[in-house]
Amino acid sequence: MEIIPSNFIEEIIVEDLKSGKVKSVITRFPPEPNGYLHIGHAKSICLNFGLALKFNGRCNLRFDDTNPEKEDTEYVESIKRDVKWLGFDWGEKEFYASDYFDFMYEMAIKLIKMGKAYVCHLSPEEMRRYRGTLTEPGINSPYRDRSIEENLELFEKMRRGEFEEGEAVLRAKIDMSSPNINLRDPVMYRIIKQNHHRTGNKWCIYPSYDWAHGLEDSIEGVTHSICTLEFEDHRPLYDWFLDQLGVYHPQQIEFARLNLTYTVMSKRKLLKLVEDGYVSGWDDPRMPTISGLRRRGYTPESIRKFAEMIGVAKSNSVVDYGMLEFCIREDLNKRAQRVMVVINPVKLIITNYPDGKKEMMEAVNNPEDESMGKRLVPFSKVLYVEREDFSEEPDPKFFRLAPGKEVRLQHGYYVTCTGFKKGDDGNIEEIYCTYDPDSRGGWTKDGRKVKGTIHWVSAEDAIDIEVRMYSHLFTKENPDDVEEGKNFTDYINPDSLKIFTAKGEPFIKDCNEEYYQFLRNGYFRKDEDSTKKKPVFNKTVGLKDSWSK
Ligand code: ATP
Ligand code: MG
Ligand code: MG
Repeated sequence: MEIIPSNFIEEIIVEDLKSGKVKSVITRFPPEPNGYLHIGHAKSICLNFGLALKFNGRCNLRFDDTNPEKEDTEYVESIKRDVKWLGFDWGEKEFYASDYFDFMYEMAIKLIKMGKAYVCHLSPEEMRRYRGTLTEPGINSPYRDRSIEENLELFEKMRRGEFEEGEAVLRAKIDMSSPNINLRDPVMYRIIKQNHHRTGNKWCIYPSYDWAHGLEDSIEGVTHSICTLEFEDHRPLYDWFLDQLGVYHPQQIEFARLNLTYTVMSKRKLLKLVEDGYVSGWDDPRMPTISGLRRRGYTPESIRKFAEMIGVAKSNSVVDYGMLEFCIREDLNKRAQRVMVVINPVKLIITNYPDGKKEMMEAVNNPEDESMGKRLVPFSKVLYVEREDFSEEPDPKFFRLAPGKEVRLQHGYYVTCTGFKKGDDGNIEEIYCTYDPDSRGGWTKDGRKVKGTIHWVSAEDAIDIEVRMYSHLFTKENPDDVEEGKNFTDYINPDSLKIFTAKGEPFIKDCNEEYYQFLRNGYFRKDEDSTKKKPVFNKTVGLKDSWSK
């Protein structure tokens, strides 16, 4: 069957398969286990695993654990959990760059023996100066012309721990006057005397990204090594190392990374938010992490859909956060359990409804999915309704509760507001109304029109629910764009979390669904903090679409 390519990467792959350059497709997703995955990683995961699925190839999960300073097994575990949750399966193909350290070391020795690598003692500051600039060529390191024997000996000393951190590095000997600064004798190994989460103290020299990455891809037989645009200028170096060594040579392809409005995506910054307590953890529902989005109420399907919608391009852009919200709203509309919850309650008393009477009203669980069935909602004389659904002096476009007006109580009766009581503070304490006994279920035989429909909860049956309402974590559309003298944390929104005690219908207490629509209030997910006594819900997204296609 012929595969129709849907982006430039797929076009390359189709060509490579046709020409016989590759027999089957092998991609990889190579996170560094130094933080939790975010929505940008999700784009890369969907792309790499998606290509493997589409071309009947495979995708490796490879932990790029080449820097012991910031890495941890906690991150390894979280990454595996998140990739699985997104719906992808790497099977047996779980690899660790640290498993290749011996091979990398041998390859480095091979390069030294070819006269293509040397040990250098310039300080990082000196090295930067010697490197030159875009307009100025670099200057050779005074250590550049050491003999092969000397280099072999010194590199072995580096490995044995006989130098301190910063005293020596191994550099490739390429070209200090190359117009591409990455080729001006890049560092291959540096000394880091720290415990590695997998190799312990076996090594005190660690490979740089540029040195390690191509070798990792090569060992695994990766055919298409897909990375973000910043690595375009590194490709000549990727190619140089593999060509020198004469090992299998995968093709590096770059695509635009995902940027989203009102959030930051760098792991360094996300770590700062966690460490400095701006959020409750990596999985705080305001975080753009996969675990944060999951806790917020995003589904794997919505994130995959989002990745598909943004597509794969060659130029960087910033995606409107509203597009992500569009994707989850569409998905939750199809699957969310509907319930009635009053977030800002005020009492509504039906004066002509018999005292002590209780009726069970039938309510559909999801109008989009009949198979989800129906439930019964208790109705009684005293209800809670939203404070905002009442107006003492309504403007002409207000169709909800107001003196003299008739509204429909969803799944209940028509009621007409007859009055209200105010407290000493001027706040409405109670609203009074009468109901039409012939309007059970929300319609009447005379077919009279009632414009407004509101939700409600029977007061004596209501359960208390903690509702966590979120807005953007940052007040600035692009918090990475920091003004002089400021920090990205200066743009944190102080009101990004508001907590309410809401009144919910009793059904919620024992319902095991994960995703809900609180009628008229938005989509919510039951949080892990829930207890039997007090369910906790996170607001995922509102009902109204703010994003225009
Ligand atoms: P950060 O800069 O946040 O530390 P990173 O790129 O260093 O991110 P890695 O763990 O190295 O994080 O990323 C693993 C893979 O995910 C890489 O192949 C990288 O290209 C991809 N990736 C990371 N961020 C994004 C993004 N915003 N959009 C698309 N792909 C991304
Ligand atoms: Mg990286
Ligand atoms: Mg990084």
